[in-house]
Amino acid sequence: MMNRNKSDLCLARAKECLEGLSVGDAVGEALSYQSYRCRDLVDFSAFRPGTLRFTDDTEMALAIVETLERLGGIDDDVLAWAYAKRYRNDPDRGYGKMARHILQQICDGMPWREVSKNAFGGGSFGNGAAMRAAPIGAYFADDLSVVPTMATKSAHVTHFHPEGIAGAIAVAVAAAVASKHKNQSADVATRAIWEAVLDLTPKSKVRERLAVSHRLSGATAKVVVREVGNGSEISAQDTVPFCLWSACNHLACYEEALLSTIEVGGDCDTNGAIVGGIIASFSGLDGIPKNWHKAREPLPIPRE
Ligand SMILES: [Mg+2]
Repeated sequence: MMNRNKSDLCLARAKECLEGLSVGDAVGEALSYQSYRCRDLVDFSAFRPGTLRFTDDTEMALAIVETLERLGGIDDDVLAWAYAKRYRNDPDRGYGKMARHILQQICDGMPWREVSKNAFGGGSFGNGAAMRAAPIGAYFADDLSVVPTMATKSAHVTHFHPEGIAGAIAVAVAAAVASKHKNQSADVATRAIWEAVLDLTPKSKVRERLAVSHRLSGATAKVVVREVGNGSEISAQDTVPFCLWSACNHLACYEEALLSTIEVGGDCDTNGAIVGGIIASFSGLDGIPKNWHKAREPLPIPRE
């Protein structure tokens, strides 16, 4: 059992990460239809505060943070219900078709394991488990060894396929190491993130493509996207390797990380959520541009 002060610190880190994830989600969504000219459109200061809506990425990450707050860890039965409850209360958040189907069945009382295993005849390998996983890493940043297990539990409730789970593990591990290296140089942190992610992500296409993006550290985003995808197929293997590359290449600057991620298109809100969650784990709330933060609708939990 964690003592009170320690769990408060873990929760504060998870909430900070959630802010970064959610701003990335909302900004990515807002710019997704004209992503190629996002740099011209990104000044949200003329927007009324709170008008950028977040999507399912944030909804599901909220369920994770609520569960961490309640239990000090991830219990898959509890989390399945937390996902389903948030979906039932606010279904119009851009959930994918299969996610809606899975969550509705859980709402209807079907056991999540059965529902999740049967999705697409073997479990979903969509990017939906990765998009919400960063706060788990931030929460358990002091103990990297538990991150893959906790990320797996958060993933398999809706994404039973090993690729879907591998994507969640990679993102959670990246956020954990980013958070652990908060006051160190971005170069040192980046090296540590790659090392841990390649070490702890299970053998999978996600892992294979992560190795490719790691090798492409000095390349342009365009080249990386050509090699590993940008989330346009909405699979974990098509999404996570580029997002990890983008987060690691711009770890010191949330704004540049988000813009260069959104600029190349693909699944813009999810890519924004993944990159935003990892970068905020490293830079803290101060790294998130103030006008972006103000433009995003408020999160339904008190800020730390
Ligand atoms: Mg979304």
